[in-house]
Amino acid sequence: MVHIAPAFGEDDMNLGKQHNLPFVQHVNMDGSIRLEATDFVGLNVKPKDDHMATDVEIIKYLAGHGLLFSKAKYEHSYPHCWRCDTPLINYATSSWFVNVTKIKANLLDTAQNINWSPAYMKEGRFGNWLEGARDWSISRQRFWASVIPIWRCDCGELKVFGSVADLQTASGQTITDLHKDAMDLITLPCPKCQGTMQRVPDVLDCWFESGSMPYAQKHYPFANKDKFDSNFPAQFIAEGVDQTRAWFYYLHVIATAIKNSQAFDNVIANGIVLAKDGKKMSKKLQNYPDPNAVIDRYTADALRMYLLSSPVMQAENLNFVEVGVAEHLRKNLMLLWNVYKFYAMYAQPTVVARANSQNILDQWIIARWHQLLAEVTEQMKQYNLPKATRPITEFINDLSTWYVRRSRDRFKEEGTDKEAALATTKYVLDGLAKIIAPFMPFMSENLWQEVNNHHLQNNEASVHLQAWPQTETVDQTALTKMATVRKIVEMALAKRDEAKIKVRQPLAKLTVDLTNLDLSADYQQVIADEVNVKVVEILSASQELMVILDTTLTSELQAEGLKREFVRLVNMVRKAADLTIQDKVILYHNAPAEVAKVIEAMQQEIMADTMSSNIVAGSLEQATFSQEVKLNEYKFNLGFKK
Ligand SMILES: [Zn+2]
Ligand SMILES: [Zn+2]
Repeated sequence: MVHIAPAFGEDDMNLGKQHNLPFVQHVNMDGSIRLEATDFVGLNVKPKDDHMATDVEIIKYLAGHGLLFSKAKYEHSYPHCWRCDTPLINYATSSWFVNVTKIKANLLDTAQNINWSPAYMKEGRFGNWLEGARDWSISRQRFWASVIPIWRCDCGELKVFGSVADLQTASGQTITDLHKDAMDLITLPCPKCQGTMQRVPDVLDCWFESGSMPYAQKHYPFANKDKFDSNFPAQFIAEGVDQTRAWFYYLHVIATAIKNSQAFDNVIANGIVLAKDGKKMSKKLQNYPDPNAVIDRYTADALRMYLLSSPVMQAENLNFVEVGVAEHLRKNLMLLWNVYKFYAMYAQPTVVARANSQNILDQWIIARWHQLLAEVTEQMKQYNLPKATRPITEFINDLSTWYVRRSRDRFKEEGTDKEAALATTKYVLDGLAKIIAPFMPFMSENLWQEVNNHHLQNNEASVHLQAWPQTETVDQTALTKMATVRKIVEMALAKRDEAKIKVRQPLAKLTVDLTNLDLSADYQQVIADEVNVKVVEILSASQELMVILDTTLTSELQAEGLKREFVRLVNMVRKAADLTIQDKVILYHNAPAEVAKVIEAMQQEIMADTMSSNIVAGSLEQATFSQEVKLNEYKFNLGFKK
C-alpha cells in the first residue's frame, strides 16, 4: 500500500496522472486547510510553533471514529524557509511557461555558433543541457519582481502587452509605476464580453530579466536600434561555470526565441577559486588571505597572471596558494624589470628600436618575440587565457637567462654590436610591453613609458592606446639553430658536472658530432662562451647529437681558472663594500704565492675586470675595507681603498 498525494509532490503527481487518480487540492496557498475538508477547516497543515498540532487533531479524529489502525512517531526531513524556519510544503499550482521544447531544434542550431572556452563545454555541459531542455516556468508568486504583462478576462480572453504605450492605450490610464502594487490596479474592458480584464497576479522569474539583459540594457526595441543591431550578439561574455544552466542558458533561450540567434559569440566559463585546503573560501573560517594584502605584497599584476594562467580560466576549480602568486612576481615581473634595468644602465634616450641586426642573438630574440606574438594572438582568438599567458613567462625567462645573459658583454663594449644589442632590446621590450598589456597592465605601462622615454609625462601616450602588433612570419631557422645550440650547451654542461669541473674553469675544447650540423662560427662562439671552452670543433659523423668535452687541465688553463675565480671574489667583495661600477679602487690582497703569481701575471686583465686602478700584494694596511675570502683550498684577505 502506498500513500499518494498528487497535489504535493512532482513524483506523486506524475504517478497520479499515469493512473488517472483524482487530483485533490485541500490546502490553500497560505497552508490552511480548505472548506471542503469539513472537520479540519482553517487548521494550518504545519503550524510553525507546533509542527505536529494538526497531525494530532487528525489522529484524534481517526481514533474517535474507530479508524486508527496504528500510530507511531516517524522522523523524516522536511523543507523549511532558510530565513525564518517556517515549514514549507510542495504545492501543485498552475504556472506560466515558455514553450522551450518547441524551439529546441533552433536552440541546438544557434548554439553551434558559440565558441566556448573551455571548448568541451559546447557539446558537453551546455549541449547536454540543451538536449534535455524542458519548458521554462517563468511565473513566481511574490512581490518584488517585474510583473508578468498579461491581462485576462473571466471569459478566457488574454492580452499580452509588449510596451507601456500599448497598455496605456488599451486601459486609457497613464502608467508611471511598473511595480506590482500599481500594475495590479490597471484594468481594461474586455473586447469579447462586457467584463473587465485583470492582470494575472504573478511576477516574472528573475532569470527572465537576466536573460533579457542584451535588450533591456539598451531599452531595445524602443530606442537605440542601431546600437543594438551593431552589438548583438555580444562578442564575448564571461561567468562562472555554474551559469551554464542559468544565465548562459536563459540568454540563449530568449535570444533564440526572439532573434533566432545566439546571444553571445564567445564565452569563457571560469571555475571557483577555493582556499588552499580545497575548501570553500569562508569569512568564518578565515581560510584565505585578504586580497588587498596579496596585491600589496605581490602586486596586482602578479595576482592577475597567477589567475589568468591557472585552470580556473578553464572552468576548473583552483586552490589558491599565495606561493603561486609570489612565483609570478618573481618569474614575470621581477625578471622582466631586471632586464629593463640592465638595458637602461647602458641605453641613451636616443636608441632607436630596430629588428635588423646581424647578430645571431639579436636575430634569435626577435624571432622568439614574433613567435610569442603569434602564439598569444592565436590563443586570444580562441579565448584560451592560460594558453595565451603561459608562453609569456617562458619568453621572459628566455629573454633574461639566455638573450641578456649571453649578450651581457656586448652592452659593455662601445661599437656597432653594442648599438645592435640596444636597438634590439628596445624593439623587444617595446613589443613585449604591448603583448603583456592585457595580462600585466601596470608593468606593461611602466615598461613602455620608460623604454619610450615618456616617463608618464605625456598624457596622450599610453601602451593601452597602442594597437596590437601585427603578426609576421617567424624566422624558424634562427629558432631551430639556437635550440640546437642550447641543447649542445646543456649536454656539455652535464659533462662538466660529471667531471666535477666548475664552469668558471676554462677548458681547451668541446667536440660536437652530428651529421649535417650547420652552425656557423658565431653560433659556435655562443657555445664556446657558455660552456667556457677555447675551441668548439664540429664533426659530422654521428647520426645522433654527441658532445665530447676535453677535460685536460693544462697549467695555463688552471691559471686562467684561478684568475676567473679571483675576479669573481673581488667583484663579490666589491658588492659587499657597496661599490658601484663607477667606483675605481686600489685592490689589496695577501694571497699565497701560488695565487699571487697568477694575479701578477694577469694584472692588467684583472684590473680591467674588477675596475681596479692598481693591485697591491702583501699587506692590507692601506685598505679601508677588507674581507676574508676562500679560493679553492686557499684562504686570504681582499681589501679596497677608493
Ligand atoms: Zn520565511
Ligand atoms: Zn471577456
